Amino acid sequence: MAPIKVTIAGPRGRMGKEAVKMAENTEGFKLISVLDNKNNGKKLSDIEGFVNSEVSVYTDINECFEEETPDVLIDLTTPETGYIHTKTALEYGVRPVVGTTGFSTEQLEELKMMAAEKKIGCIIAPNFAIGAVLMMKFSQMAAKYFDDVEIIELHHDQKLDAPSGTAVKTAEMIASQREPKTQGHPGEKETIRGARGADYEGMHIHSVRLPGLIAHQQVMFGADGQTLTIRHDSYNRSSFMSGVKVCVETVIKLDTLVYGLENILD
Ligand code: NAP
Repeated sequence: MAPIKVTIAGPRGRMGKEAVKMAENTEGFKLISVLDNKNNGKKLSDIEGFVNSEVSVYTDINECFEEETPDVLIDLTTPETGYIHTKTALEYGVRPVVGTTGFSTEQLEELKMMAAEKKIGCIIAPNFAIGAVLMMKFSQMAAKYFDDVEIIELHHDQKLDAPSGTAVKTAEMIASQREPKTQGHPGEKETIRGARGADYEGMHIHSVRLPGLIAHQQVMFGADGQTLTIRHDSYNRSSFMSGVKVCVETVIKLDTLVYGLENILD
């Protein structure tokens, strides 16, 4: 079988570097190009830290897709760029696997419609770590039995979006199991603004940003006389790569947009 031709956007980033290693070392994948915001026209090996001289570097996605024909675009950039890249990939018939977080609900809806119209597979996964997906699924299960829950997500201090895509996805999955409920004391007042975190249908979401952290989340349920805590920790970025690999292998068989790794795991 011909290898799956892959383009990676954001190769110099923390996630992008891991994705380049993964694509280069996975049998059946062929990294053909990268989309960077500098180094146009160079080879990947011209960039410090990389050795592959067969991979072309582009800064313009249109030029990249006109000269190369990847099967899959892996996007690990920023919310603004990731959104434009995903749209453009769909226009060119390239299947996006998007790890970039921070898309709005409207943007997700638009991309979903576009993928359906063009019958092109697309996977947007706010968390590629299998353990994180299980943490979300277990939280969804627990939500049937516990009405009160708070989500505490913890990330490195270079993260651009808050709350994290994983926290939003977790809140959505929990919301699918319960009626909206205002939690805490009905008369509670914040003496410092933001103390109770963000509010998603009455659930509170707290975002911690500290150097030293990678990606962590704790979902805490409370009921009379008991609490249940479900926690996942990613200690390095290679923890995400088995999920990226599954997404690349799966997206070429899809003809719609799938949001969340949990929807493609058996
Ligand atoms: P990062 O280290 O800041 O990397 C982002 C990279 O994108 C940088 O190298 C940046 O280049 C590059 N970039 C920005 N605009 C670009 C453009 N127009 N074209 C090409 N490259 C561009 O961030 P990260 O930690 O790797 O995270 C990347 C994204 O993945 C974030 O949205 C993050 O939340 C998400 N993430 C997802 C998962 C998951 O499991 N789904 C896990 C971790 C992180 P410059 O440095 O030159 O600006």
